[in-house]
Amino acid sequence: MNNQLSNTLDNQLSNTLNNQLSNTLNNLSESQTLAMTRLSRELKAEGKDIISLSIGEPDFDTPQFIKDAAKKAIDENYTHYTPVPGYPELREAISQKFKRDNDLDYTPEQIVVSTGAKHTLANISISLLNPGDQVIIPAPYWVSYHEIIKIAGATPVGLPTTIDQDFKVSVAQIKAAITDKTRMIWFSTPCNPSGSVYSKDELHDIAQLIAEYPNILIVSDEIYEHISFTGKHESIAQFDFIKDQVITVNGVSKGFAMTGWRIGYLAAPKWIADACIKMQGQFTSGTCSIAQKAAQAALEADPSCTSEMRKSFEKRRELVLSLMNDIPGLKLNNPKGAFYVFPDVTSYFGKTDGETTINNATDLTMYLLNKGLVALVTGEAFGDPNCIRLSYAASEEVLTEAIKRIKETLALLH
Ligand code: PMP
Ligand code: GLU
Repeated sequence: MNNQLSNTLDNQLSNTLNNQLSNTLNNLSESQTLAMTRLSRELKAEGKDIISLSIGEPDFDTPQFIKDAAKKAIDENYTHYTPVPGYPELREAISQKFKRDNDLDYTPEQIVVSTGAKHTLANISISLLNPGDQVIIPAPYWVSYHEIIKIAGATPVGLPTTIDQDFKVSVAQIKAAITDKTRMIWFSTPCNPSGSVYSKDELHDIAQLIAEYPNILIVSDEIYEHISFTGKHESIAQFDFIKDQVITVNGVSKGFAMTGWRIGYLAAPKWIADACIKMQGQFTSGTCSIAQKAAQAALEADPSCTSEMRKSFEKRRELVLSLMNDIPGLKLNNPKGAFYVFPDVTSYFGKTDGETTINNATDLTMYLLNKGLVALVTGEAFGDPNCIRLSYAASEEVLTEAIKRIKETLALLH
């Protein structure tokens, strides 16, 4: 990683005596999305006019009716420990949500609420994986999958995809990667960072393949469900023949602009839910009581309450694509969901500006930060060293200025 990110937690910790840290921690990398966001905050504090498009977080505020539910929860004294897997009424609301939005039957007992989908994924990893197990993660993958799998001592197996295949993994690729150590496959649809969305047919084909391997589980991360521009969201658990092998992960962070509330959840066969409840009972207990009541209000509401935000994201996607299309050398994908674009930037590799040479996507990201004052995230963090990620969860005005800076800065490279 470029030495400007030298103030990472990884490097700060490298000064610590090695034997004071666990092997698990020594093997772990800091989240690059969070590291880049931290770096841009630090540069801003130094007075630099940085535009940060590095973090995947809606810029909207949480809708008022959800905030009101949280205030009411405090007044009604929802302030005690909650059941470990979440309040029964929240698990019921999630069960109803799955029926209403996804045509999926999950009983409340099959649902576990956790402190964000990140925590949900950590529960899955440490409850179900052993050292030596392999987990297939089609690349580009969300940055934390790789490290959360490693925490359990398991091995993430990245499967590279290209922009020409819309960053979607083929059944043949998955098949070729399966070994007798493969325990799971993790993917997100809509995908962070590519914005790609798997169609019902594509999911069906993947499901058919995995059904041939009853010991392999699918972790289907659907946290961007409400930010999809393709119409109805498709869940892989809809195919009955695979449902017992699927863990459906979701949360309120993205669709309801509730990143700070920290509510994520899973639905799965009961034995998996029970395993995660046991793990969570020793780590965190039930998550925040007030946030649970807020999430309940969000999930009980008509899902159309998310559509204004989705429309704004779709409009911004059009803006970003049209402005970026004008930048020579960027190869753009056409994201169908989430709020990221993930252009291939290989045409800049080997180019220079004075003393600076761009050898890879990380160099380009640091160059754009220092020279262009725009913070993006290197594709290397997502397992794709040819690309960079831009989050368009920002106003049209900010996006226009940021892309103008990117264009002007890239034009300096020869
Ligand atoms: N999955 C994906 C694909 C994500 O982009 C994120 C980012 N926040 C998460 C899971 C975790 O979300 P949270 O912990 O905020 O629920
Ligand atoms: N998931 C978001 C992202 O990809 C939030 C940051 C994080 O938790 O990594 O940027």
